[in-house]
Amino acid sequence: MTDDSQTRRPTTQDEWLELGQSSQLSNYRPAPFVLTKGSGVYVEDIAGERYLDLTGGVAVLSVGHAHPVLARAIGEQAQRLIHVSNLFYNDRAIELGDALTERTSFDRVFFSNSGTEANEAMLKLGRRYHHERGDTQRTEFLTTEGSFHGRTLGSLSVTGQAKYHKGMEPLIPGVHRVPFGDLAAMKAAASERTAAIIVEPVQGEGGVRVPPDGYLQGLRALADSCGALLLFDEVQTCHGRTGRFLAQEHWGVTPDACSLAKGIGGGFPLGAMLCTEKVAGGLPYGSHASTFGGNPLACAAGLAVLKIMDEENLVGTAACTGAFLKNELTRLAELPAVGEARGLGLLQGLALADDVDPAATLSQLRDKRVLLTLAGGHVLRFVPPLNVSEEELSEGLRAVAEVLQNPPLKINP
Ligand SMILES: *Cc1c(COP(=O)(O)O)cnc(C)c1O
Repeated sequence: MTDDSQTRRPTTQDEWLELGQSSQLSNYRPAPFVLTKGSGVYVEDIAGERYLDLTGGVAVLSVGHAHPVLARAIGEQAQRLIHVSNLFYNDRAIELGDALTERTSFDRVFFSNSGTEANEAMLKLGRRYHHERGDTQRTEFLTTEGSFHGRTLGSLSVTGQAKYHKGMEPLIPGVHRVPFGDLAAMKAAASERTAAIIVEPVQGEGGVRVPPDGYLQGLRALADSCGALLLFDEVQTCHGRTGRFLAQEHWGVTPDACSLAKGIGGGFPLGAMLCTEKVAGGLPYGSHASTFGGNPLACAAGLAVLKIMDEENLVGTAACTGAFLKNELTRLAELPAVGEARGLGLLQGLALADDVDPAATLSQLRDKRVLLTLAGGHVLRFVPPLNVSEEELSEGLRAVAEVLQNPPLKINP
């Protein structure tokens, strides 16, 4: 059997691609090469080509590829204890839960394996909290247009982008969607049926959108006055991404619960929902669970990420490098191919002009060995590792400038 699988192992990159295309579901459209290793902000494909990776695994690689401290922590923990289930406490989960509540305004933690699962826990808390208090009318959610909360059916239902809903209906009922940043619209939508308001402090997938000042504070006041919970989805903005540990700190607003994922495990699958003591009773004994969630291996990765972030001062670094990046992108925004530059910290976007072909732009950047991803369909999204250097960013920005000086245009604009 070993011999058989070895003879089936592809040799050239084209053979690898062919095997990937024929064996994997076609719900993705990956770039036409096969990655096999990485270091810091660089990755290498199976043919030995090296790329500058400014996608950061879609805002996941907080400490870069193959960080030795993270790799060692995962290796050591794997030799000690990988999984015990939620039937037992494990030391790593206790340590990580304590570290997260220590660094934030929250008191309690629930561990998941992904962002959408952290949001499912948060949505269930949002409903069950009222039920526990005898209010069975409060079952509805208020969400924003352009939001992204994940692909499982609950998170999908509160995701404010119709393209992700296509063919997946019926979604969960009682979700009302209003424009992001519009406090008056949110006020008008709130009622005695509202269980919770869910919002990303900075919209990521929807196109990198920073809310107007006062918006998140206004949502806090609104939730308090109407008796609903305020839930923040910080899956993309957590762990220093915006130059603060959590993005909410920029505005000094503490929601009742908050979801974290992407950067938390540095690439190891891990998510978390944090909540305050006040609402912690919303998920009582038996009301929610995850088999893998909080396993010692994932939590060891989460602890190593926090240790690296502290040792390398990555939150502060992300704020500085983010300011540098924002400045450079603002200059690029003067090109006719660009609409505007926007973002916070190392979550930055460059909105392309209407006539520019976003997919072809990414492809031309790949030809220059620079990897970027899109948000909102037409926004070049920069979410590199938090320890990226200004030199590495400049290398990528030179390629972006070259491509956008003579950009690929849409065939039928
Ligand atoms: C990526 C993302 C999710 C979904 O996370 P998964 O780990 O893919 O389930 C949810 N919310 C936000 C804001 C995200 O950026």
